[in-house]
Amino acid sequence: MSLPPALIVRYRAFLAVTDATPVISLGEGATPLVALERLGARFGVRVFAKFEGMNPTGSFKDRGMTMAVSKAVERGAQAVICASTGNTSASAAAYAARAGILAAVVIPEGKIASGKLAQAIVHGARVISIDGNFDQALEVVRGLAEVSDIELVNSVNPHRIAGQMTGAFEICDDLGQAPDVLCIPVGNAGNITAYWAGFQAYHRAGRVSSVPRMMGFQAAGAAPLVLGHTIDHPETVATAIRIGNPASGPQALAAIADSHGSIASVTDAQILAAYRLVATTEGIFCEPASAASLAGFMMRAEAGEFTDGQTVVCVLTGHGLKDPDIAVANASPVIRIPSTVADLERAVFDG
Ligand SMILES: *Cc1c(COP(=O)(O)O)cnc(C)c1O
Repeated sequence: MSLPPALIVRYRAFLAVTDATPVISLGEGATPLVALERLGARFGVRVFAKFEGMNPTGSFKDRGMTMAVSKAVERGAQAVICASTGNTSASAAAYAARAGILAAVVIPEGKIASGKLAQAIVHGARVISIDGNFDQALEVVRGLAEVSDIELVNSVNPHRIAGQMTGAFEICDDLGQAPDVLCIPVGNAGNITAYWAGFQAYHRAGRVSSVPRMMGFQAAGAAPLVLGHTIDHPETVATAIRIGNPASGPQALAAIADSHGSIASVTDAQILAAYRLVATTEGIFCEPASAASLAGFMMRAEAGEFTDGQTVVCVLTGHGLKDPDIAVANASPVIRIPSTVADLERAVFDG
C-alpha cells in the first residue's frame, strides 16, 4: 500500500514547493465534501459542506500551516509566531512540533475556546496571553517579526494563503467543475482571499471552465467589511471570526467584486440555529464560526438568490469539538431518570 502524497506535494504545480522544500505534513487536506440533501431539497439547489474540521488539528488552518512551516524550515527559521483567536495557534503549535522548532502563540485575554487552547499547550507551544483583542495581538506579533528572525505564520504570510488555495482545488476536483457559489465565513479574510485565488488559478490552468461567486459572511457584532469601517470591540459567539480589522480586508473585497459575489452579516442567533441544524439533521459538528457560511446560505436562499439546480458549497471551517462550552450551552440538557425500564421507556419515547 502506498500513502497519498502530502497536500503540498499533490498540488505542487500550483505552489512554491521544490525538491529543496522539506515537507512538514500531518496528512492535512482531502477533507470530505458532504452533500446536504435535505437542505438542498428545501431550496431547490445542490448544496455541499466542505468539512474542514476533518483536518489534523480540526480546522482549515492546517492547509496554510503545512506550507508556511515547510517554507520557514526551508529558509532555516528556528521559530514561528502567530496571533490567534485559537485555530491558527493550534495549527502552528502542531506543525512546529512536527518540524522540531519553537512556536510562540499570542492570544487575546480570556476569549479563546478551550479545545484550541488545550491543543496549543499540549503541543508545547509558548502560549502568551495579552491584555487586548485579536487585532492588538496581531499588531505586536507583526512588530516582533519585523525586528527578529522569527517567522510570522498568520494569514498575512503569503505561504499561508497559497496553501489554503488547495481547499478550492479539492472542491473542483470532487465536483469535476467549479461550484456556482461558494459560501464562506470571513474573519481576518485570508481564507476567502485564498479560495478566490485558488479558483482563479484552476481556471487559468484549464482545470475548470468557470469560477464561483464568492459569498462571504461575517458575524453581526464583528462585521467591519459589511459596515465599511473597523470595529474596536468586536463581539460574537463565533470567536474564530471575532475580528474588527481584517488584515486581508482589501483582498477579500476585491475577490467579492471580481466574482460578482457579496458580503453580508449573520446574527449570533442565525449562526447558532445553523450550527444546531447541521449537527442534528446532517450529522456534522462544526464550530460556531463555521456555521456562519451555512446561516448565510440559508438567508440568501430564503431571499430567492439562487436559481434551481445551482451548486453551492458552504465551507465549514472548523470542528465543533474545538468549543465544547458553546456546544453544551446550546444543546438539549441530559435527561435524568431513576434506573427502571418504565422510566427509561418514558424518557426515550416521550422525551
Ligand atoms: C480562522 C477561521 C475563520 C476565519 O478565517 P479568515 O481567514 O480569518 O477569514 C473561520 N472559521 C474558523 C473555524 C477559523 O478557524
